[in-house]
Amino acid sequence: MTSTSASGQGAEYAATASEAYQAALRVIESVEPRVADATRKELADQRDSLKLIASENYASPAVLLTMGTWFSDKYAEGTVGHRFYAACQNVDTVEALATEHARELFGAPYAYAQPHSGIDANLVAYWAILATKVEAPGLAELGAKHVNDLSEADWEKLRAKLGNQRLLGMSLDTGGHLTHGFRPNISGKMFHQRQYGTNPETGFIDYDAVAAAAREFKPLVLVAGYSAYPRRINFAKMREIADEVGATLMVDMAHFAGLVAGKVFTGDEDPVPHAHVTTTTTHKSLRGPRGGLVLATEEFAPAVDKGCPMVLGGPLSHVMAAKAVALAEARQPEFRTYAQAVADNAQALADGFVKRDAGLVTGGTDNHLVLLDVTSFGLTGRQAESALLDSGIVTNRNAIPADPNGAWYTSGIRFGSPALTTRGFGTDEFDRVAELVVEVLSNTQPAAGPNGPSKAKYTIADGVAERVHAAASELLDANPLYPGLTL
Ligand SMILES: *Cc1c(COP(=O)(O)O)cnc(C)c1O
Repeated sequence: MTSTSASGQGAEYAATASEAYQAALRVIESVEPRVADATRKELADQRDSLKLIASENYASPAVLLTMGTWFSDKYAEGTVGHRFYAACQNVDTVEALATEHARELFGAPYAYAQPHSGIDANLVAYWAILATKVEAPGLAELGAKHVNDLSEADWEKLRAKLGNQRLLGMSLDTGGHLTHGFRPNISGKMFHQRQYGTNPETGFIDYDAVAAAAREFKPLVLVAGYSAYPRRINFAKMREIADEVGATLMVDMAHFAGLVAGKVFTGDEDPVPHAHVTTTTTHKSLRGPRGGLVLATEEFAPAVDKGCPMVLGGPLSHVMAAKAVALAEARQPEFRTYAQAVADNAQALADGFVKRDAGLVTGGTDNHLVLLDVTSFGLTGRQAESALLDSGIVTNRNAIPADPNGAWYTSGIRFGSPALTTRGFGTDEFDRVAELVVEVLSNTQPAAGPNGPSKAKYTIADGVAERVHAAASELLDANPLYPGLTL
C-alpha cells in the first residue's frame, strides 16, 4: 500500500535508493567495516520486528540520505541571513526552506528549525517565554560560573531572580513528559511546578480541574501535550484557561505532530492556532529526521530566534536540510492519507484489545497510541514488555495513572501505530497484532526470582513465543520495510 508509505515510492525510486546505499556502505566499509556491518544489521533487525513503539517511525530514503552530506561540516550560528560564520549562503537556503515548509504546513506565523531534539525545542521555548514575559538576569549576576555548579539554594535564588515563575503541566504518570515540569529535568528546577492529571474514573483530562489548578497556581506557562495519553486534547479550552489566568499556552505536540500535519486534528484539536508557542520533534509521527521544531506567534519569535546560543549548540545544517525534505513530503496529499490511516489503525488496535477483554487506559484511543493496562493479565509492564520482545513484538513499558508498580516496573504497555502504518499495515493487520499481543500476555506468568516474587521475571508457555514470532514475520513479509531497497 504505497499510499501510506513514505512519499516518492515506486520501483525506480527504490532502485536509485538501493544504488545510493550500496555505494555508501562500500565507502564506509573501506574505513571501518564493523560500522557498515552494524548498519546493514540494523536494517535487517528493523525489517524483522513488529515495531509498535509509539515514538518511532521510518523516515524515507530521501530524508535519510539528506542527512549524510557536507552540510554536516558547516558552522552556522545565527539565523537565516544573519550568521556569525562566513559562507552560510547554502545553509540559509535549506534553513529557510525548512521554516517555510513548517509555516505553510502548520499555518504558523513563525517557525524555528534549529532545535536538535524535542527536549531542546522545549528548552528554547521555556527560555523564550521567560525572556518575553519576565525581566530575567543572567547567571553572572547570581555569581555562578556554570549551571552545573548551582546548588538547590542557588536554584532557589535563580528562581527568585526570575520572579519565582510557575509552570503547570501534565503529570508523568497520566501521560505528560519529563520536560513538562518533572524534577529530574531542568523544567522542574527552573520553575516552581505543579501538575494536572486525568479524571481517575474516566482517564480523560478534566478541563475543570485544570482550570481550578490554574486559578489557584497562576502559572506563567501552561503546558499541554503528552507522550502517553491516548486521547485528543481540546486546545481551544486550554487557551481559554491560559487566558483567564494570564498564562502563556505552550503545546508540545512531539508525539502527534503527524496527525496535525495530516489534518486529522483540526479546529479545537489543532494546537497551532491556539498556542502561543508550539514545540515538536520531527522524527515521531511526523516521519522526518531526528530533531525539533518551534512554532510561535510573532510576539515570541525574536526570543525563540535566540535559541542558539542561549540553550542550543550550533545548528545541525544537514538535519535542517532533512527537515526541509520531510516537511515537503508532509505537504503532499499522500501524507494526509497516511495520517488518517495512523488514527484508523490505532482505533483498530484498541478495538482488537477491547473485544478480547484486555483493559485499556481510557477504554480506547482517538489518536495514534494505545495504553494497555497489563494488570488484567497479572503482569507488570516490565514482564509484559520482555515477553512481547521474546515474541518479536517491540513495545515499551509505560506507567499508567496512579501506577501501583511505579515508573520502573510499571503496569502498562504503550503501543503506537505510526511505524507499522508506514510499512503499509491496515486495520486488519492491526487487529491481528492485538490478537498476537493477547496470545503472548495470556500465556505469560509472573515467576519468582532467587529472593522470592519478582516484578521482572516471567515464563511464557511452551511454543507461544515461537508461534507468535512466526505469525509476526508473516505480517512483516507481506508489508516490507523500504520495499525494493536491497543492500
Ligand atoms: C519525545 C518527546 C520529547 C523529547 O524528544 P527528544 O527528541 O527525544 O528530545 C519531548 N516532549 C514530548 C511530549 C515527547 O513525547
